[in-house]
Amino acid sequence: MAGSFKSVTRALLLNRDDARVTIILMRRPIDPLTNLYDLSRSALHDLLAEWGYSDYYAGLVWSGLYRDLATETDTITGLRPDLSRQLSAETTIGRLPQQMSVASADGHTHKFLLELADGQAIETVLMYFRGRATACVSTQVGCAMGCVFCATGQMGFRRHLTSGEIVAQIVHVAQGLRERGETLRNIVLMGMGEPLHNYDATMAALETVTDHRGLAIAPRFITLSTVGVVPGIRRLTEEARPFRLAVSLHGATNEERMKLVPIARRWSLSELIDACRDYSERLGRRVFFEWTLIEGQNDTPEQAHALGHLLHGLNAHVNLIPLNPTIGYDGQPTSAVAIRAFQHVLAEYGLPSTVRQRRGIDVAAGCGQLATTR
Ligand code: SAH
Ligand code: SF4
Repeated sequence: MAGSFKSVTRALLLNRDDARVTIILMRRPIDPLTNLYDLSRSALHDLLAEWGYSDYYAGLVWSGLYRDLATETDTITGLRPDLSRQLSAETTIGRLPQQMSVASADGHTHKFLLELADGQAIETVLMYFRGRATACVSTQVGCAMGCVFCATGQMGFRRHLTSGEIVAQIVHVAQGLRERGETLRNIVLMGMGEPLHNYDATMAALETVTDHRGLAIAPRFITLSTVGVVPGIRRLTEEARPFRLAVSLHGATNEERMKLVPIARRWSLSELIDACRDYSERLGRRVFFEWTLIEGQNDTPEQAHALGHLLHGLNAHVNLIPLNPTIGYDGQPTSAVAIRAFQHVLAEYGLPSTVRQRRGIDVAAGCGQLATTR
């Protein structure tokens, strides 16, 4: 392994005159252990092949990780003792310790604050949506997009998550559900961060959790939510990714959108809608549009008309989310009456819409709120 090789070389250089110390150092790789959650199934097969083990053993490790949800490599069953030892010495299962867990009063939402190896924390949420257990997962620590009403945006960008850190969140939720005799079937990438700004790690994680020999989550039950990173939507289309796409709009003219979503300066609404139209037509799929309703900002009937025009002819569904107030933004959610009026206008354009409460406001379930209050 590269790690062991590097440590050997360094030990020899430092300790030429002391053979005993050299041998001790040679046994301790200085590189970090390989996080098994970072490996695709084929990368795991390659690693074990390099060590001299057949595909059969790679299959056992994979199902240990994603069928049995093993927490330690030495609990993976059926392995030869030498393989078990090598796994323990050179790899780790990158579970994320739970710093905190909060349940909403109605019991429908459980929010977890999970600790990363560098000491930062991210949020992962388990929510019951229409009776189905759904994991709401983060893709970054903080976010670079700066949407003014969003607690994660208010934190600024800290770093991308690795694919292993995204996988670990999903396993965390799946594990908790399994202890209650339930199964995780739905994932929404609506936690902290912008998934299309961390494209490769996000896709790698989704490939792992959809693998039919593991967690086997159906791609049609995975929703990727983006603020509208146009090159990312184009790439999803080119690669014909099988996930549901949700696009956060919040404004139906460039001017109004820019007030809430600074990244709208980078990609205009017409570029964004073109990319969505292309995605929808080429992949034959409906696009979901999210609209956070903020009193007096983007909730008038005129704005609903503008949205109706904008999405004309697109296979679209609008999710209306009343604002979940955050410390860093002085806005209030739209009233129920005004929401109904907004929906009526959309219906005139044949645009279906649903009102989505951001679940468990009493547990700060708005994206990034728990992490920022900590
Ligand atoms: N970055 C992606 C996904 C994470 S945010 C995106 O922006 O789409 C998921 C959704 O939550 C987005 O639609 C976002 O606009 C919305 N959201 C964020 N903060 C909110 C808040 N305080 N109240 C209501 N919705 C919020
Ligand atoms: Fe980032 Fe999404 Fe929050 Fe905007 S709403 S700051 S894109 S996480």
